[in-house]
Parts: sequence; C-alpha cells; structure tokens
Amino acid sequence: MCPSCEPEAAANANGNGHTNGTSNGTNGSNGTNGHPGFTAVQTKSNPHQHRSNPYQPVGDFLSNVNNFKIIESTLREGEQFANAFFDLPKKIEIAKALDDFGVDYIELTSPAASEQSRLDCEEICKLGLKAKILTHIRCHMDDARIAVQTGVDGVDVVIGTSSYLMEHSHGKDMTYITNTAIEVINYVKSHNIEIRFSSEDSFRSNLVDLLSIYSTVDKIGVNRVGIADTVGCASPRQVYDLIRTLRGVVSCDIETHFHNDTGCAIANAYCALEAGATHIDTSVLGIGERNGITPLGGLMARMIVADRDYVIGKYKLHKLKDIEDLVAQAVEVNIPFNNYITGYSAFSHKAGIHAKAILNNPSTYEIINPADFGMTRYIHYASRLTGWNAIKSRANQLQIEMTDAQYKECTESIKALADIRPITLDDTDSIIRAFQRNLKLGKTKTADLLPNMTDEEQAVLAKKERQIDIPEKRELDIAAEIPLAKKANQGVTA
Ligand SMILES: [Zn+2]
Repeated sequence: MCPSCEPEAAANANGNGHTNGTSNGTNGSNGTNGHPGFTAVQTKSNPHQHRSNPYQPVGDFLSNVNNFKIIESTLREGEQFANAFFDLPKKIEIAKALDDFGVDYIELTSPAASEQSRLDCEEICKLGLKAKILTHIRCHMDDARIAVQTGVDGVDVVIGTSSYLMEHSHGKDMTYITNTAIEVINYVKSHNIEIRFSSEDSFRSNLVDLLSIYSTVDKIGVNRVGIADTVGCASPRQVYDLIRTLRGVVSCDIETHFHNDTGCAIANAYCALEAGATHIDTSVLGIGERNGITPLGGLMARMIVADRDYVIGKYKLHKLKDIEDLVAQAVEVNIPFNNYITGYSAFSHKAGIHAKAILNNPSTYEIINPADFGMTRYIHYASRLTGWNAIKSRANQLQIEMTDAQYKECTESIKALADIRPITLDDTDSIIRAFQRNLKLGKTKTADLLPNMTDEEQAVLAKKERQIDIPEKRELDIAAEIPLAKKANQGVTA
C-alpha cells in the first residue's frame, strides 16, 4: 500500500507538532499566542509531491541540486548580525544543534578577531562534532598562522577583489593579491587541512581578474574556490552565468555566499547549485551583516521541493524550529510571521475554497508537507472567508453531525457575524454548538447564537440574517463543483 495514501498522523486542536512561529510567546504572532481562529486539522491524505513533482529540476549534468553541502555560518556571518553576541556556552549550544541537524560544515569567526574568538574556536574544535569546523580569515599569513593552531578542519580565506575594495579597503593590486594567496594557501595546505580561497564582492570584480586568480589557486590545489555576493547585488541569472563560467575554469569545488539585500539570497543559492556550485553558505534565520544571507530554513524549503529524498535523508528537518528558536532568543529577535516553514502563517489556510481543497488533499495548495518538518497545518475557520466544508470539518472535530444544508446555513451565520466584527475560533465553535441546539429546539432565530454580543451587534446581525439568501448561496457552492472550463464560462472565480 502506498504509505503516502495513509491518513496523516492525527494533528489535534492543540497541535501535535510545533506551534508555528510562536516561540517566546510572541514570535511572528503580534503578541498573541497560538493561532486564534485557526485549528490544526487532520486531512485525508499526505501530499504526493515526491511521486510526480512538476517542480523537479530540469536535468543538467552540471547541476548539484541533488547533491550539495551546507557551510553553516551562524557562528561567523551570524556573529556580524547587529544584535549578536554569543558567549562560549551559547556558541557550543548552537554548534551542537547545527551538528545534530546535519550541516556539513560549521564556520567560526576568525581567531585573529579577538583573544576570546581564538579560545572559542579551540573549544569548539575539541567538541568532536561530525560537522567539519572551519574558520574564516583574511588572506594574510599572520591570520593563517593563528588559524592552523586552533585545530580547525579547514580555513576559509577571503580577500576583496572588487575595484572598490582594492582602492578603499586593503589598497592592494591583483599581483599582490595573487602572490599572497599562493603563500597562504601553500602554508595552510602544509598543515594538511582544507583550504578555500574566495574573492569578496565577486560580482563587482573584474571577470578576467577573477577567473585568472581562481585558475591559479585551483592549480596549486585549493579544496574550494568561493564566490561571494558580499553586497547582495547579484540576480539569479548573473549567478548562473558566473558560476557556469567558473565551473569551466576550475576543477575544485565551488562555494557560494549570498547576501539578501535585494531578496535574492535563496534564489541565488539555488541557481548557483544549478550551475554547478557544490557548497552553500547559510545562517540560521539568515542573520548576518545588514539583512543577512541565505537562511538555513529557507534553503531547506527550496531544496526539499527540488529533491525531497536527498534533503530528508541528510538533514533532521524536525529540528529546524528548535534551532531557529535557539538563535532567535540568543539574538533577541522574533521569527517573522512569513518565515519559511516555521513562520506563524507558513501552513495556515483561510479562504473557503483553499480550505476545502486542503481538507481533501493538502497537495492542492501546499508544495511542502509541514509534517516533514514536524510542523502542523492550520485551517482558519473564524472569518468571513470561511466555507461550509471547513465548518463541516470543524463541526466534526467537535463531534457535531448535521446535514450539508445545515452546515451551509450555519456557515452563513458565521460569515454574517464575521462581517460585523473579528471572531475567534471559540466564537465559531459557540455558533456551531448554538446552531445545533437551536435545530434541536426547533428555533430558527440565530441572533442569539453568541452570548457575548452587544445590542448593537445583535441588531446588525439580525438585519444581516434577514438578508441571507441561502438558496442563492447553495447555487454558488454547486457552481464550485463544476469543472474549471465551465466555471470560467459562468464567471465563477476562485
Ligand atoms: Zn557575508
């Protein structure tokens, strides 16, 4: 039997999985706890996105979307985030969590940055984690000498190659950069640890200069070259072109680092992999300089759609929420409501037509299965946009059985009240219960459905109730069952 056809593990109203976006009691939910108006739902079947996936990447022999490595830089790039201050115990906690999640590398702040940074680097190297430990240094022999003494598995060397940086930052020309790079690379390699050479601000560097220095360092045996969009200026197409060109010049691995100033950090990472890059830099929640880099969770969302088996087989996705909460608390930020996977509304469905389809088959409006990340799907029942299928589902959760016509009538009352004021899930439940009670008592008046209504609200609701034309509404519901082509002809829109 196809396991994906089994009913989903029951998600009860309390949520068996994580409560999206509500860590610290406030994250992503504007100070309110949980999902008012929403409830976790049990749906008929799991999404089938791994069976026939229209989002599967186009086959390309250079593409690494099915085989990539993560260099997790929360403890390097993330330390450059405005709010970040990680003491050693916090660094160890984060490093262990990332290691448990399954990242391939953990990158640490340069030991040349401060004495404590050097000590922290040594301590994390002693933890014996599965992930390889890297540190990130300037292309300078003084930094290289300190780095190789810390016990790291590899050193990431970086130097600015854009005209801006050559002129206004370090003031060195390409000849000097190349000679220093060769000296540092040979020194690090002599200690039998991995070495990556990266330019900084690669997309505003001279292409001939870039390819020339990468070709040189590739020949002397670096493990990886790095492309860094330090200022976040690159577009996915520019990334694809540069990485594809570089792939033809070097035989070593290609690491990429994308800042998110223009919102392209995840798309750029994906395009880099498509073009043949092998490693992607991430940080938890994307924290870093300015508005940060490719977020770990966002990259997971992108990649699970491309190759679910690879991502699920390699990373403990259900730990993502805990890691994000850990880092969010450490740097004192809230997880945004629209965060990938873990945001308050990431798996919440509200419009009636969406809710109906989700209840039948979640794949209709979800390309990511929240259960893959230990998250819970929510349906919003308490709004003017709700539909009778959602109300029927909620009534069934409350163990209330009515006819379809009665569910529809009850839904109209809920919508009428939701037109007057915002209503909560408790309000919806009260109306459903009161509606059923009225039915049993043979009452038709619905203005008394809620005990806590003001006189003014009662009056408006009574007026609206009189305007409700149920037969007409039913015709609309019937129209919703008509195939799409016919619907278009009849002017029914979703
Ligand atoms: Zn950066």
